[in-house]
Amino acid sequence: MQKTSPQDSNQMNQVPQPIRGNEGGTDPGPRNVALDRQNPDILTPPSTDSGTIPNLKFSFGMARNRLQPGGWSREVTARELPIATTLAGVNMRLNPGGVRELHWHKEAEWAYMLTGRARITGIDPNGYNFIDDVGVGDLWNFPAGYPHSIQGLEEGCEFVLVFDNGNFSENETFLLSDWFLHTPKEVLAKNFGVEVEDFASIPSHGLYMFQSTVPGPLASDQVSDPVGPVSRPFSHHMLAQEPIRLKGGTVRITDSTNFPAASTIAAALVEVEPGSMRELHWHPNNDEWQYYIEGQGRMTVFASSGKSRTFDYRAGDVGYVPFAMGHYIENTGDTTLRYLEMFKSDHAYRNSRQWEHASRSAACAARTGTYRSFNTAVDAHCGLDRHAVLPLAGSRVRLVYDGQPPLHWTGRGSGQ
Ligand code: MN
Ligand code: MN
Repeated sequence: MQKTSPQDSNQMNQVPQPIRGNEGGTDPGPRNVALDRQNPDILTPPSTDSGTIPNLKFSFGMARNRLQPGGWSREVTARELPIATTLAGVNMRLNPGGVRELHWHKEAEWAYMLTGRARITGIDPNGYNFIDDVGVGDLWNFPAGYPHSIQGLEEGCEFVLVFDNGNFSENETFLLSDWFLHTPKEVLAKNFGVEVEDFASIPSHGLYMFQSTVPGPLASDQVSDPVGPVSRPFSHHMLAQEPIRLKGGTVRITDSTNFPAASTIAAALVEVEPGSMRELHWHPNNDEWQYYIEGQGRMTVFASSGKSRTFDYRAGDVGYVPFAMGHYIENTGDTTLRYLEMFKSDHAYRNSRQWEHASRSAACAARTGTYRSFNTAVDAHCGLDRHAVLPLAGSRVRLVYDGQPPLHWTGRGSGQ
């Protein structure tokens, strides 16, 4: 066997090893060290992890990228992440002037602008039209079946789309060019009251995305229409919302209560400061689909019956939490962790007074060594206030919580 030099052993030390106290052992390889470095809690899970829980992470960096004139797009759906049945995601880039062709689909489309600006158009079934320019931190929602288009402006754009069906495919949308191509030209001529020759030069394939020129000012694209614009816009300035400010982070919630167009998809934009965490919670409405925008963090999902599993996430990753399962998200980096929590629901829960009592009782139970009760009587008996939970947590992190008033958003209530 080859002898290990001090230099070699020094390098070995820099490579993460699946060792936890007296458990585990080195991994001599073969191994993908870059992947191990990005997933320290998978290589070496905390000792509290246990049992079998399906995969809850997929990175857009592992998704097939569809390169087109005008930009690119890639998707994370139930095919990539099988547990994600409620929602699917698309990450798309449009170059300056690049157009995502007018199209529609069976699913509602929710979107968050990550970089740059775009011009979006839509038409509702009664003929009311919609056009707007959106920038970083803006979102849009086109209800199922509504035709719409997206075009990159001067600086181009990148955004994430979320659809209210995990089996959605961005590659199977209804394209105007595709429909024309598969309709007899005589029928097209009859339908539009023009000559067959007028359709001689329609595209020979479905466009999906194409390169065009950067459009002029918004006003130059606004058409005069006797029906007029939609009464409720399809766009919304999510980042411009005044956030719920908490010790350790902020939350912005956009759902049907403040953005009526989003009747099937609810969102929370969460920022967690370094050293802080989104506290232990669960959601009583539906599964949670996550998109990580910046920073890095880790999440442990508790699935009952002694099952628990931890994943690491960073910008460009998708995370998932099945309905009702307990979880937290801890910032493990040196910069702000920013991510989206998405729900197939008309609302995101804001507040849970029950949890206020439950967590205080849990801390009380931990202190007294009894786990017999999560009720307010024990809570009152122990006389704990919320902040007393912190030292009992035995952790360097603080809760994402400011104490006044009791504010969580895992349950609906007076949190905002
Ligand atoms: Mn679409
Ligand atoms: Mn959550």
